[in-house]
Amino acid sequence: MSKKYQNFIGGKWVDALSGETFENRNPANWNELIGTFPSSGKADVDAAVKSAREAFNEWRLMPAPERGDIIKKAGDIMWDRKEEISRNMTREMGKVLAETMGDTQEGIDTAYYAASEGRRLFGHTVPSELRNKFNMSIRIPMGVAGVITPWNFPMAIPTWKIFPALVCGNTVVFKPASDTPLTATTFVEILLEAGVPPKVINIVHGGGANVGTPIVNHPDINLISFTGSTGVGKSISKAASDNLKRVSLELGGKNAQIVMDDADLELALEGVLWGAFGTTGQRCTATSRLILHEKVYDRFMEMLVAAASKLKLGNGLQAGVDVGPMVNSDQVETVQRYVKIGTEEGAKLVLGGKPYKDGDCADGWFHEPTILAEVTPEMRVAKEEIFGPVLSVLRIGSFEEAVKVLNNTEYGLSSSIYTRDVNRAFTAIRDIEAGITYVNGPTIGAEAHMPFGGVKGTGNGHREGGWEVYEFYTETKTVFVDYSGKLQRAQIDNY
Ligand code: NAD
Repeated sequence: MSKKYQNFIGGKWVDALSGETFENRNPANWNELIGTFPSSGKADVDAAVKSAREAFNEWRLMPAPERGDIIKKAGDIMWDRKEEISRNMTREMGKVLAETMGDTQEGIDTAYYAASEGRRLFGHTVPSELRNKFNMSIRIPMGVAGVITPWNFPMAIPTWKIFPALVCGNTVVFKPASDTPLTATTFVEILLEAGVPPKVINIVHGGGANVGTPIVNHPDINLISFTGSTGVGKSISKAASDNLKRVSLELGGKNAQIVMDDADLELALEGVLWGAFGTTGQRCTATSRLILHEKVYDRFMEMLVAAASKLKLGNGLQAGVDVGPMVNSDQVETVQRYVKIGTEEGAKLVLGGKPYKDGDCADGWFHEPTILAEVTPEMRVAKEEIFGPVLSVLRIGSFEEAVKVLNNTEYGLSSSIYTRDVNRAFTAIRDIEAGITYVNGPTIGAEAHMPFGGVKGTGNGHREGGWEVYEFYTETKTVFVDYSGKLQRAQIDNY
């Protein structure tokens, strides 16, 4: 029998106040029910915010290194449970086990980095313009953080947000995607076991409109960290401005890999296969476009189609499977819609193009790895995010044209160039409009200690990961200590 899971609010595991639930099913075999989860609403969010607010005063006073020790312990527990967490993640969202193991590892790496940040959280000391006066800036927590996450990195993305939020002394109301509630629940269990006090962390399951919107609108939430689609991100940005909330948005992408005529083609092939079809193309950094130099176009396309046609689809828990299912039927429909749009626009379908139902895949949301060739820059399949195993291939005749074509989208998350020419590589680093550029590597592959995020329509300028995210979760307080024993007037007494 499948298990009934709950919210964690006010220090207790509880059902939604309405008593309603939703199902979590395996996308590789939708007959497998993983569990039921609370279908929550505004009243549950209100209770969670109240709990987080009550806990804030004590949590903010715990020394940051002590908070860091708790996060380190959470990383240790995740390490001990890595395989079990990853298997369950594959069951609930489909990507292959090697990738879910990587997702969990990213959470562990983020824990250890965050723990060490508890011993930094640097401020500045700066000379005063007056004698016997001391100036410094220190970092203080913000209050209650609302964390809203997508399903494609069910452990890594919540840890990118929640570990820094906690280390900095904030309390949390967490709404995970309703396609991946199990991994999120496990993460909260681990935080509690590691020693995060009840009430400091709260998880509220449910849909975007019923749970996400009340979080965004809640006057007692100080900041929102959101990862998801650009459309929802824009609506959050508007709504949060009413309460002057700080908002971090990590949104969609239309990432491209350039392959120049001097590239190592075998290396570039490995890169594009991994970038385009890893996670079934459902990564914000997935390679959605291949920008291919005309001198190597025919040869590389032959290599690419041959290699991609060998990719094995199936349940991500089975050995030898390269590509798992899509997360749900809506995603399959979106991909189908874009295949139609692309072919109607004049792109040439050279591989795949259909849902896949053979053998063990009959009861899952599978889609064939798909390649659209002869795509031109103005086509929708060259500009819009598809979020599935679809690669659009564009032909270019020069380096300058490659960069221009790459930049021809509203997004700016990740990018890649394969070339052996160091001058081109550095020019690309300078001129590509993206938050991330890889040289001779695919568009995917974040590291926990490096800033992660995009420019243009991919976000609002904040970064996750690395040192930068700690700025998001803290306010700066400027402090002056005058030890002169007399009134000193800046700008007046000294000039
Ligand atoms: P989504 O925007 O549909 O949902 C993301 C989260 O927001 C979910 O928890 C959802 O329930 C919630 N939500 C939906 N409507 C809401 C609303 N009106 N108010 C508040 N919350 C709401 O995105 P998704 O389908 O889960 O994820 C795919 C998208 O996420 C893609 O566009 C992908 O590029 C993007 N993504 C970006 C990054 C990044 O770091 N830039 C990383 C992963 C995914």
